[in-house]
Amino acid sequence: MHSEPIHHIPLTRLKGVGSALERKFNQLGIYNVQDLLFHIPLRYEDRTKISSIGKVTIGDQVQLQGEIVNNTVRFGRRRSLNCVIGDNTGFITLRFFHFSAAQKEALQTGKQVRCFGEAKRGRSGFEMYHPEYSILDDSVNKPVADSLTPIYPTTEGLQQGRLRNVARQALKMLEGSDQVQDYFPPELAHQLGLQRLTEAIKLVHQPPIDIAISLTNETVNPGQKRLAFEELLAHRLCMRRLRNDSRTQSAPQLRAADELISSYLRTLPFTLTRGQQKAYQQIAQDLASASPMLRLLQGDVGSGKTVVAALSALHAIASGYQAALMAPTEILAEQHLLNFKNWFTPLGIKVGWLSGRSKASERRQLLDNLADGSCKLLIGTHALFQNDVAYLRLGLVIIDEQHRFGVHQRLALREKAATGDINPHQLVMTATPIPRTLAMSAYADLDTSVISELPPGRTPINTAIISSARRDEVIERIYEACSKGSQAYWVCTLIEESEALQCQAAEVTMERLVKQLPNLTIDIIHGRMKSKQKTEVMEHFKIGKIQLLVATTVIEVGVDVPNASLMVIENPERLGLSQLHQLRGRIGRSSIESHCLLLYQTPLSDASKQRLQVIRESTDGFHIAEKDLELRGPGQVLGTQQAGLMTFRVADITRDAELLGEVRDAAEIVLQQYPEIIDPLINRWLGGRINYAKV
Ligand code: ADP
Ligand code: MG
Repeated sequence: MHSEPIHHIPLTRLKGVGSALERKFNQLGIYNVQDLLFHIPLRYEDRTKISSIGKVTIGDQVQLQGEIVNNTVRFGRRRSLNCVIGDNTGFITLRFFHFSAAQKEALQTGKQVRCFGEAKRGRSGFEMYHPEYSILDDSVNKPVADSLTPIYPTTEGLQQGRLRNVARQALKMLEGSDQVQDYFPPELAHQLGLQRLTEAIKLVHQPPIDIAISLTNETVNPGQKRLAFEELLAHRLCMRRLRNDSRTQSAPQLRAADELISSYLRTLPFTLTRGQQKAYQQIAQDLASASPMLRLLQGDVGSGKTVVAALSALHAIASGYQAALMAPTEILAEQHLLNFKNWFTPLGIKVGWLSGRSKASERRQLLDNLADGSCKLLIGTHALFQNDVAYLRLGLVIIDEQHRFGVHQRLALREKAATGDINPHQLVMTATPIPRTLAMSAYADLDTSVISELPPGRTPINTAIISSARRDEVIERIYEACSKGSQAYWVCTLIEESEALQCQAAEVTMERLVKQLPNLTIDIIHGRMKSKQKTEVMEHFKIGKIQLLVATTVIEVGVDVPNASLMVIENPERLGLSQLHQLRGRIGRSSIESHCLLLYQTPLSDASKQRLQVIRESTDGFHIAEKDLELRGPGQVLGTQQAGLMTFRVADITRDAELLGEVRDAAEIVLQQYPEIIDPLINRWLGGRINYAKV
């Protein structure tokens, strides 16, 4: 029994845990005893001493003990149970708005009560609302806690006391057994300056009194740090292993015929920026190698990543292989389709299209063309990798705006795209500048190329923050801009995460604008329109037939109409900074001066004001992303779809950022000297979540 690993021990093995309670724990992501031990307290309370009631001041978090001198139900605006307790220094009222008859019965006059809570000023002097309490048995002198009391994140119907009791049992199990194995050999732990695991877990759940409570609450509990380190290391090792595995895999060696590339370059009305050239050189080198490329192409909005994608695709095609380009939204995929068709058709290259909404007949035709190799480049949404899509010779997969896909999706795709032993090369593009800290964990398996400059001849975007009370002025500005031959966007932002409502709001706005601007041609685009309609609208906007385009955030990524120089974003306070930056990146794509008007609803909170200032003052995506990370946390920055690998149990990328450098170095040491602990670590922290690690 003792050798049974702790992550196999079900919660129901613990006293007082039945299947109902187990389900509550499941809601917290706790499925076994190990999970329980890795469930980290939010904060700690000092219940190691009992304070005198007479010395309490308002706002104190204190533990008190006294005799019940009065117990009455008061009927006022809200019914409450009031229980007055006193010691030999003073009195305080414990007040309960929710209580049961049994509870009232138990709190009998004359009984001794020990309670913990915050002292507040009430009607009748000091009061405590809903304190945690226990009624003491007269005969026993109940000892006070000998360590700080943990307060855990919990869920409705699971009381702190219960949770604490169960956690304490788990901790007992840990003592004197080796059920939670410390995978770090002592010499490695020493080298890395790490505590032993069992010690760390104890420090997290039962910190001794002599550890300052501020050390456990305000900064990070050292035990927690040790666990976070291990978790981050496990993630890093997992990514590194994927990377190393890919080095042992084989990929087609693509050595392009330069002629195709040169003829393409000759058709472009501009020359490549230095960043673009360098990125393509790096890619070309990777593509020629016999193991698959895994490269992240990072470049701010408008830096010209699409051209680099085109060069890479041509490289593969010229080498006799097919390429696939996947975009996260249909609108973006369609934009790419237009561009690539314009570019590639004159070169005699057939470009195919596949989306979830392709008609059966079109689809069949396309699948035939893919299978016989006549379709050289396939563009679309994630429909590109549905099971029945078979390529003849897929050599390169390009994923645009990767931040919209999860890390998991990217890794899973890698597996799907392989045919037999041959793995296609992969190019991942993203405009969301990834803060260094995130890049180190979420993209540790990728090599990176960065395009750090924008194409020349752009005029910086002017951003203004304007109250919606000045809507009429804004409408006037649109009229002026459009009269001078420019085009404009009016972006309606997300309402309560509901796409349907968002589209509706856009339609209402559209009607209003049509009335207010009768001389302009106005149209609308949103996610609920048919693809054909969307394509048509985008084409009309591109050729200038539409002057003002009312849109939802569907245009956030990729849309490229250089003549559009004015953008109004309604309720910008609802969006994240990086998202605003992305949206704004739709303008400022030519030498005309561009303006972005952030039309906020009053009143605007200070936090929102501060966030919008960041956008107004900066057009540097990296700076904005760092700020966004600071203000909102990593989950939000990468988008909810990124849940996958970016959700940690103990670690928090923002808080634990300073660990990442050490984690990276430790990962290299482990890879070189202690490969035997890689599997157990990955299993412990990523468990079943990752099964595409290739062998
Ligand atoms: P992103 O990196 O945001 O995907 P795009 O690839 O959409 O940017 O490019 C933005 C715009 O810049 C497009 O209109 C594109 O034609 C133009 N562009 C790209 N490269 C250059 C260049 N070297 N010189 C001038 N314009 C360029
Ligand atoms: Mg793009």
